[in-house]
Amino acid sequence: MPLLVTDAIVLHGMEYLESSRILRLITRDAGVQAVIAKGARRPRSRFGSALDLFAQGSAQLLTKPGRDLQTLTSFDVTRSRGALAADLDRFTGAAAIAEIVLRFAHDDSGPEFFDIVEHALDDVAAAPPGAGRERTIGAIWRIVGALGFAPSLDDCSVCHSPVAVGDAVLFHHRAGGILCDRCASSHGGGRAIPRDALDALRAWLGGSDSLALGGREARAHQRLLHEFVREHLADGRAIRAFDAWATSAGEG
Ligand SMILES: [Zn+2]
Repeated sequence: MPLLVTDAIVLHGMEYLESSRILRLITRDAGVQAVIAKGARRPRSRFGSALDLFAQGSAQLLTKPGRDLQTLTSFDVTRSRGALAADLDRFTGAAAIAEIVLRFAHDDSGPEFFDIVEHALDDVAAAPPGAGRERTIGAIWRIVGALGFAPSLDDCSVCHSPVAVGDAVLFHHRAGGILCDRCASSHGGGRAIPRDALDALRAWLGGSDSLALGGREARAHQRLLHEFVREHLADGRAIRAFDAWATSAGEG
């Protein structure tokens, strides 16, 4: 069996039989992979506590083409991200990020996508108290963009002409972004968002992780992101941890 050595992050874990664990990883070189860590729950397992949720390290996988479950033979932790478990906003945000990645990324997602997920979890882990939610919103928008679903924020998402934005602009989920005045008057639905909110979306999708929002603004952004993901990625199906995060009021 070919041996694959790659950076990996633990995004989900479950116990399996008496002593093993089944994990889902995002890897730098092979996208999302499900692996079995045999004996991982034995007291003197060679994995130790390495396989905790959100831990990152160098993983060795024995891979069999065509198999859904590969075998993890070692995992050398480089980052444990214990800060995510120390704060509820950070933890629920990281869980939402993990779920979005596991549901919508594939085994060919590539090194750049891995870097985006790595930075997303680092940003949320390093969030000052009360900022976990903003960091999560920005991180998920970047992941949505990397998955190919970035909303149109400069040109009209229907007629593609540049949009002159006044104090507010119409954001239309189904159309996939903002609308010009003409298209806004001919399309039902959508949500008017203030100019500040549009600027925040542009900053997040452009890579910024340091916006500070008030509680009301943050909740409005959570709602917008939730609606967008449901429209374009989820096909109306539930995304449990993400839905729970997106509808929570948070602490800030
Ligand atoms: Zn238009």
